[in-house]
Amino acid sequence: MNQNALQKRQELIQKRVDAGFVSEKLPQIADMEIKMVYYRRSIYSAEDKLLMLRTVKVTPDSHAYFEMQCMTKECEGSFNLTRVIRKLVKDRKKRGTGNIVCTHKAEGLLPRHASVDYEIKIKFNRAKKK
Ligand SMILES: [Zn+2]
Repeated sequence: MNQNALQKRQELIQKRVDAGFVSEKLPQIADMEIKMVYYRRSIYSAEDKLLMLRTVKVTPDSHAYFEMQCMTKECEGSFNLTRVIRKLVKDRKKRGTGNIVCTHKAEGLLPRHASVDYEIKIKFNRAKKK
């Protein structure tokens, strides 16, 4: 790993640490599942290509960090689900779906070169009685 990549990785670890834990930041969550389908756009094909499926399990012990790096090698962009998750929790919604597109621009990258379909399922802790 070169120096730059190493530094990037350390920054990422630091970001996760800084984000704190789900138990502190989103104590309403008992359990959460984030299903993601990554698509990549190619100049060789009219249709976006399915790149990979990923499921992330989130527990109160997890870091409250929901930013996923773009899967495109040359890209430094990311997909950030933090706002989506905050909104679901605020509205106490058990399920949310949507699509996010990597908007990072750089030479050699197609516009909308990568996107993610997500499905988020949340189990909430019972509201405390007052
Ligand atoms: Zn990207």
